Amino acid sequence: MSTRHVLVVAPAGVRAPVLESVTLARTVGVPTLLSLVPLTDAELTALGEAGVERALVTDLGDARHSAAVAGRAVATAAEATGASLVLLPTSFVAKEVAAHASYLLDAGLLIDVGSIADDGESGQVVGGKRAFAGTWETTCAVTSPVAVATVRANAVTAAPAEAPVSTAVEPLEVDATLPRGLELTERTEHPTEGRPALAEAATVVLGGRGTEGDFSAVEELADALGAAIGTTRDCVDEGWQPHDAQVGQTGVTIAPRLYIGAGISGAPHHHGGMQASGTIVAVNVDQDAPLVQIADFAVIGDLQEILPAAAAAIREHRAS
Ligand SMILES: Cc1cc2nc3c(=O)[nH]c(=O)nc-3n(C[C@H](O)[C@H](O)[C@H](O)COP(=O)(O)OP(=O)(O)OC[C@H]3O[C@@H](n4cnc5c(N)ncnc54)[C@H](O)[C@@H]3O)c2cc1C
Repeated sequence: MSTRHVLVVAPAGVRAPVLESVTLARTVGVPTLLSLVPLTDAELTALGEAGVERALVTDLGDARHSAAVAGRAVATAAEATGASLVLLPTSFVAKEVAAHASYLLDAGLLIDVGSIADDGESGQVVGGKRAFAGTWETTCAVTSPVAVATVRANAVTAAPAEAPVSTAVEPLEVDATLPRGLELTERTEHPTEGRPALAEAATVVLGGRGTEGDFSAVEELADALGAAIGTTRDCVDEGWQPHDAQVGQTGVTIAPRLYIGAGISGAPHHHGGMQASGTIVAVNVDQDAPLVQIADFAVIGDLQEILPAAAAAIREHRAS
């Protein structure tokens, strides 16, 4: 069987989800990276440790924020490298980029896979994904010669290759013209205060209405753990947290390794967006709250006492 070439896309630098995708790519073939921004020395070292010998870099400037242009870059790189599988770390934007790329490549598209395999007989790419808020595990085979897939954050643990390699960087020419009728007029970066992005964080601490709007204990625990902060829709409606921190049916879907929900009841609308989390911890004064019922661990008590005590214990443990 010939070697499968896998193109892994890094839309905004070599972050943890990109290295997770590279790790997944190595299980079915030889990974090549496409970066839509210039790479730093530290990123090249990380790629070398992950076994990436070839990195294509295209500098699209602000045009990379157009899914059509980014999708064109992905398709161009896939054709240039002869990739039969393209992996992108999942995000709202990446799904749109993947759709554009799969259209241009005439490729089957898998969204939010947690695993990738090669079907031995047909050579088709088979993706494993969770459906219906994490209650079903499904597998989907791509029947076209090229497959495009977005990879769910934290589904795979990033691991170094057996032996480090040196990564050769090659520029890639891509037409960065915006589609007719589209003009980028303004962009606002939301500051993350040094915390990881919610959708890709391995650990997330969330506060609900039980905080009564005081998120200082939630922030303290998140910072002790190096975690992202999330919340419920009620807290967003109250103006206590920004909309992009909302987890649930009408917010972000997350699947971190560790979910800590404090002062959150666990209503179905919230549950649907976090049910696929690895370990679920609930902190609540009410032992009958639905989130307590589905949690792997629950602490019954006042979050304003429990979270700072947990943060202090973690800081102490890290220092020792
Ligand atoms: C169409 C629609 C879409 C929706 N989409 C979403 C969505 O995407 N995401 C989402 O989250 N919600 C969504 N909602 C809202 C959802 O139905 C719930 O109302 C919401 O999730 C409840 O938020 P909460 O858990 O913060 O508040 P509550 O349900 O009021 O729960 C507060 C919890 O805090 C506990 N508590 C109180 N004080 C303390 C304390 N001091 N220490 C510890 N625990 C304490 C209480 O016992 C309680 O369990 C949606 C609703 C609708 C109608």
